[in-house]
Amino acid sequence: MKKGLLIAVSGFSGAGKGTLMKKLMDECPDDFALSISATTRQPREGEKEGVEYFFKTKEEFEEMIDAGELIEHAVYVGNYYGTPKKFVDEQRESGKDVLLEIEVQGVLQVKEKFPDTVTVFVTPPTISELRKRLTGRGTEDAETIEKRIERAAEEVRYAYDYDYLLINDDIDKAIADLRDIVSAEHQKEENRTDVVKRLQDELGGKK
Ligand code: 5GP
Repeated sequence: MKKGLLIAVSGFSGAGKGTLMKKLMDECPDDFALSISATTRQPREGEKEGVEYFFKTKEEFEEMIDAGELIEHAVYVGNYYGTPKKFVDEQRESGKDVLLEIEVQGVLQVKEKFPDTVTVFVTPPTISELRKRLTGRGTEDAETIEKRIERAAEEVRYAYDYDYLLINDDIDKAIADLRDIVSAEHQKEENRTDVVKRLQDELGGKK
C-alpha cells in the first residue's frame, strides 16, 4: 500500500477553501481524508465539535502542544490553531491523501517536517470579491472582517512560496484543478519509484 500524499491548502479567509475541501470530500471520499484541526476560537453558528474543528480552551490546547500531539500550530487573529498528528499519520498509512486546510505559518512548519508536502494557495479572483464573500457570509463583525483583510495583505507575500496557485472563481473548475494537481503529483511519485525501478530491472546490466 502506497502512503498517501500530504496536501496543505492555504489562502485568504473567505477564499472558499472550506467549500472547496467539503465538495472534494463529497466527490471522492475514498481517495481523500480531511484533517480536522484543534482551535481555541469560539464555534461559529452551526459549527459542531469534531466536524469543523475540535474546540479547545487555551489550557487544553497548550497541553496538546506539550504532549507533542500536533504536527504544527500557529496563532491566527488571536487564537491557536493546530493539526493533530495521529489522524494524519493513520490516514496516510492507509493510502489516503490527507488535506490540511491551514494558514501560512503552519504550512512552513509542515513543509519543514515533511518536505514532500504539496502546497496550494487558493485565492478569489480579486480583493473586492474577497470582501464581498466575507461580508456575505454574515458570521463575522466588521472589525473582524477588516482584521482578516489586513491578514490577507500579509499572507499574499507568501503566495510565491507555494507549489501551486489556485484561483477560485468557479467552484467546480477549482475542484477539477485541484484534482489535476493531485493526480499530477501522484504521477511524479509513481514515475520516480516504481516505473524507473522496473525499467532499470529490465535493462539489468546493459549499459
Ligand atoms: P477560521 O477561523 O476562518 O476557521 O480559520 C482561520 C484560519 O486558520 C484559516 O486560514 C485556516 O486555514 C487556518 N487554520 C485552520 N486550522 C488550522 C490549523 O490546524 N493550523 C494552522 N496553522 N492554521 C489553521
